[in-house]
Amino acid sequence: MDSALPTGRPARFWKPSEKNGSVTCLACFRACEIPEGRRGFCQSRANVNGMLYSLNYGYSASLALDPIEKKPLYHFQPGSMTLSVGAPGCNLSCLGCQNHDLSRPGPNWPGAKFPPDIVSRLNQTAALNDADSWSFTYSEPTVFLEYAIDLAAEAQLNGLPSVWVTNGSMSPEVLRALPPAVAAMNIDLKGFTEAFYREVTGGSLAAVKRNIELALSLGIWVEVTTLLIPGLNDSPAELNGLTAFLASLSPELPWHVSRFFPRHRQSHIQATPIPALEMAKGIGLDNGLRYVYVGNATKPGYGDTVCPSCRRTLIARTGYSIEKNDLGPDGVCPHCRAKIAGRWAPGLVANDPPK
Ligand code: SF4
Repeated sequence: MDSALPTGRPARFWKPSEKNGSVTCLACFRACEIPEGRRGFCQSRANVNGMLYSLNYGYSASLALDPIEKKPLYHFQPGSMTLSVGAPGCNLSCLGCQNHDLSRPGPNWPGAKFPPDIVSRLNQTAALNDADSWSFTYSEPTVFLEYAIDLAAEAQLNGLPSVWVTNGSMSPEVLRALPPAVAAMNIDLKGFTEAFYREVTGGSLAAVKRNIELALSLGIWVEVTTLLIPGLNDSPAELNGLTAFLASLSPELPWHVSRFFPRHRQSHIQATPIPALEMAKGIGLDNGLRYVYVGNATKPGYGDTVCPSCRRTLIARTGYSIEKNDLGPDGVCPHCRAKIAGRWAPGLVANDPPK
């Protein structure tokens, strides 16, 4: 028995396994088979007496009021604030992890464990802070899904949508359980070869591709982020394949190409050169994506939303700040009347999903 096993809440998405006393977690692509008294790969779900428990329910290792642009979501309630929470654990093992203390915390978990009435109390916090949404972020929400689902359900009762910032590696069953309370996602598409996913992230490209497509079909507003790591996922051929895939799902799908900085076990790799980011942006536009943003790098225009029809700047951004926004809640360009894809009005109002 793992003596450091904290108590938790009964988990969803699992089944008893055929091996005596083991359980199979069905929350993500790993489908961990977990013997009695042990945890799954993510360290946040454990087999206690033949039942699967979520160990991090109620842990808020990070809790902050952020601009929605920080997620990043640029076509979802721009300029709004989102109350953001993350709990310990992760189902990937990215070499360049930017939140290593949170994703692999060891036995001493960071953050505060809130009392049993956590969900309604945190939703009161959201209301008090004038938050326009909840975001489940910082770590991977799949590994604290019970907590995230309960918070999102309570937020939905208060008219607030929720957001998942995710590596997109959950099982289809988990993804189908999220809308309508979860109205938007930023999904990492970290590269475009299985070898990259396996060796650099410990993940599965096929699972992420499937889930981006499934999330769109479920009517969730989706934006995609790719961290461009020099020498690992930045070849023109790989970026061509990645952006052609996104454009085949929807040319309206916003793509954020993000600058890498040395971290964790990739501290020996240089920051992404600016010309590489611009090359990636050009490949995305050439493949038909209408909204391509450059993140983690400050240069005028990198974060602006431009009308794909008349080319006028509709939303000008500097970092996470909005300098101007000419789009109304209907998302129509005031200059040429083109419809700009997005969920522009606050609240749980579903505009057109990308087609
Ligand atoms: S959520 Fe955790 S325990 Fe469940 S399959 Fe994924 S890594 Fe394993």
